[in-house]
Amino acid sequence: MLFKTLLRDVLVGCYGLFSNNTGGIWVIQITDNLLNPRKKIQELLLKKDTAQVLEMAGMLHGHYCVGLALGVKAVEVGFTRLGISDNTGMEEIMAVVECNNCFVDGIQFASGCSLGNNALVYKDLGKTAVTFYRRGSDEAVRLCVKSFEIKTGSKEEQKEAQELFDKAVKRREKLSVVESKRLKVLSIQRSFAVIRQPDEDVFTISECDVPGLSFAPIFDSQECCVCAEKVMETKAGFRNGKPICRTCSQEEFHMVLGSGITSGNAVRV
Ligand SMILES: [Zn+2]
Ligand SMILES: [Zn+2]
Repeated sequence: MLFKTLLRDVLVGCYGLFSNNTGGIWVIQITDNLLNPRKKIQELLLKKDTAQVLEMAGMLHGHYCVGLALGVKAVEVGFTRLGISDNTGMEEIMAVVECNNCFVDGIQFASGCSLGNNALVYKDLGKTAVTFYRRGSDEAVRLCVKSFEIKTGSKEEQKEAQELFDKAVKRREKLSVVESKRLKVLSIQRSFAVIRQPDEDVFTISECDVPGLSFAPIFDSQECCVCAEKVMETKAGFRNGKPICRTCSQEEFHMVLGSGITSGNAVRV
C-alpha cells in the first residue's frame, strides 16, 4: 500500500526517484520550496517585512551592519517600483552594482541576483549604488545611498559604535570579548533602524535607461597542458600549441579584491 502511494506520488511529480550507478536509490520529496527556493524571501518582500529578510541575510554576510541593511532595503524599494516579485536566478532580473562592499551582500541575498548566477554585474565605480531591471522591459531603477543620519541611539552610542568599528575594521585591532559583543549589539540596532527610515532619507532614487547587457555566454573548457585542470577556453593561453591556464603561465589576470578590480598574477598576489 505504501509502495503504491509512493508510486502514485512519483507519477504525479510529488517525489523524485534517483539512482546512482552502484544501484543505490533515494527519494526526494519535491516540495514547493525546492521548486522555488526563494519563495519565503519573495513573500516577505511582498509583505514589506524587510526586517525579516535582513535577519536572514545575516546568514550569508556573517554579521549585521548598515551596509547589509541598505542592500536589503534597496531590493525592497527597487523591486516594488518595478513590480518584481519573483526571480529564478536565470538572468531575467538583473542587478548592476557599483561597489563591492557589505551593501552587495544585501543585494545578492534579497534580490537573488548573484555573482554565481551572472545576474549581478559589478561596475568598479566605488559608489554604494545599484540598478535593477527585468530583461525585456524598458524600465530600470537606480538607487544610490545618500549621506544620512541613522535615527537611533544617543550621540554617545553613535560615537562608541564608530570607535569600535574603526578599531576592528580600519585598524584591524583585536577587540576584547566585551567590545566585540558591544559592537555587534550597536550594529544590530543601527541596521534594523536603517531599514525603517523613509526610503528618500537614505537613497537617491531615479529611473534610468536599461543597461544593454547580453546573457552570460557559455564556453567550452579545455585542459591545461601543465596542471591538467579544466579551464574556460576564453581564459586559456597557449604554450607550444597546447592550452595553458594563467596560473601555470603566470600571465596576468583580473581579480576582485577589496580595493576593486585589480590585475596581477598567481605569484605576485
Ligand atoms: Zn557588513
Ligand atoms: Zn594549469
